[in-house]
Amino acid sequence: MTISEIEAKSILRKHRRVDSWFVSCYGMNLYRGCSHSCAYCDGRSETYNTRGEFGQDIEVKVNAVEVLRSELDPKRRRVPLKHSYIMLGGGVGDSYQPIEKKYRLTRRVLELLLECGFPVHILTKSTLVTRDIDIIKEINKRSRAIVSMSFSTADDAIAAVFEPGVPSPTERLQTLAYFKREGIACSMFLLPVIPFITDTSESIENTVEKASEVGVDFVIFGGMTLKESRQKDHFMNALKNYQPELISKYEGIYRGNRWGQATAGYYDTLNRIFCRAARKYRVPMRMPRTLFADILSENDLVAVLLEHIDYLLMMEGKRASFGYVANSISRLEQPLSSMMGDLRVLRGVGATAERIIQEILKTGTSSYYEKLSVPYARP
Ligand code: SF4
Repeated sequence: MTISEIEAKSILRKHRRVDSWFVSCYGMNLYRGCSHSCAYCDGRSETYNTRGEFGQDIEVKVNAVEVLRSELDPKRRRVPLKHSYIMLGGGVGDSYQPIEKKYRLTRRVLELLLECGFPVHILTKSTLVTRDIDIIKEINKRSRAIVSMSFSTADDAIAAVFEPGVPSPTERLQTLAYFKREGIACSMFLLPVIPFITDTSESIENTVEKASEVGVDFVIFGGMTLKESRQKDHFMNALKNYQPELISKYEGIYRGNRWGQATAGYYDTLNRIFCRAARKYRVPMRMPRTLFADILSENDLVAVLLEHIDYLLMMEGKRASFGYVANSISRLEQPLSSMMGDLRVLRGVGATAERIIQEILKTGTSSYYEKLSVPYARP
């Protein structure tokens, strides 16, 4: 493995709009490349410009803490930072991959975020996150923290094939249980399930059941994408060694979509399976409102709740345009409450959306959203 120390010009990455999965406006990658080397990782795709061989070559942003400190400093900012969770993880490298033991960048960034009072949402596959329980608890006390772990399955034997560099799903579930006992909100990212291997009803139900036993606060679900070239070639090689007879089935659902997406029909089937499992085990399919309502600005709160409504309807097989409305709201400069009587001028806002937005602005929630969430709410 090659480790290169690099000087980053910037660390904080602003999302185009508040991200309704993580409820976050900002993220960061402290490492580029990931020695966990999951077979399906889309960080391997050329789209992300990671240098060298993915899984083998890691770039370490050694000046990350200093750069971030100046980016967070309100005196140096022309536009103040928005309130939301700051996301640590995802992207092109796990923040708790083994090299973190040596560089401790993630730990030092957490210390800085604690000092500056920002809420934090961590996503990792590594049990090393338990090392930082002391800071995570302090952040949670001061401004709130969430620990999420990602899975493609709860089956240790299958995970060992496709996620060779990370602790087993059993260990990850134990880690989530540990954080729950310590009073930290947790989630499972069941993302991606692997086509024809971990996407069966039995496998998804089993994984959701385990998440529910651990007491996670929510589960985010998604199918796999396979972008052409480096990512797809690498995954197909792993598949060839594991179950070559599946290759033609993959060719049937991955047909060269630019974003690496499988066919819509395939994802619809998956969503139905997951939705059934989430109802059965009463597991919320999006972050519960109580974990973010007091963090976001009013526009972002409305945008996230509308996106959640859109998703919950989609999971019930209904099409809606609340996601489109959420997008219009995310671009607004002025607070929604200053245009209570004029909401219909916003693109996509009709009578129903107007009513929902007004209710959220008055009460902090929407009865429609609460009703849709009930089947998945914990008893
Ligand atoms: S842990 Fe995440 S970033 Fe690292 S290889 Fe696996 S999927 Fe990619």
